[in-house]
Amino acid sequence: MSEWITGGCQCGAVRYRASALTDNAHICHCRMCQKAVGNFFAALVGAPKEAVEWTRGRPSVFLSSGHVERGFCSACGTPLFYNDVEGPRITLTIGSLDHPERLKPKSQDGIEGRMPWFSELPAVPDQGETEAGDSAAWAAAIRASNRQHPDHDTAVWPLDAARRE
Ligand SMILES: [Zn+2]
Ligand SMILES: [Zn+2]
Repeated sequence: MSEWITGGCQCGAVRYRASALTDNAHICHCRMCQKAVGNFFAALVGAPKEAVEWTRGRPSVFLSSGHVERGFCSACGTPLFYNDVEGPRITLTIGSLDHPERLKPKSQDGIEGRMPWFSELPAVPDQGETEAGDSAAWAAAIRASNRQHPDHDTAVWPLDAARRE
């Protein structure tokens, strides 16, 4: 990939860019990944360590074992990476990328932790889009006070700080 790949946390305190990703987009169902991302599985993609640059702030880390650290934003808690501290690559959370839709998983790891009903998820009843129906007013209130960093780099963040200048 020639273009820069960018991402960051929900609050925008931590932003990164990568000049390359490895061809290993995957989901991991293992219990340690479930805890690290607070979800049924982690969606991950690797990058050579030298290809990743922290462009705003720095992630905090938790050593989940003697060999792996889990990176996250200490201000908002967004999980950002899995890092084998001795290995050549860092593994980014696909959900923290600005364009997660570009990274279709190619494999599933840690299947001992896979939810027994995982294959049934596409059949779970669909309640429509965020701004549809009864939730439209609520969605509008959220949008009007949204503090989530947009899915692209910004010169100044948060916007309140920009307005004060
Ligand atoms: Zn954050
Ligand atoms: Zn895992």
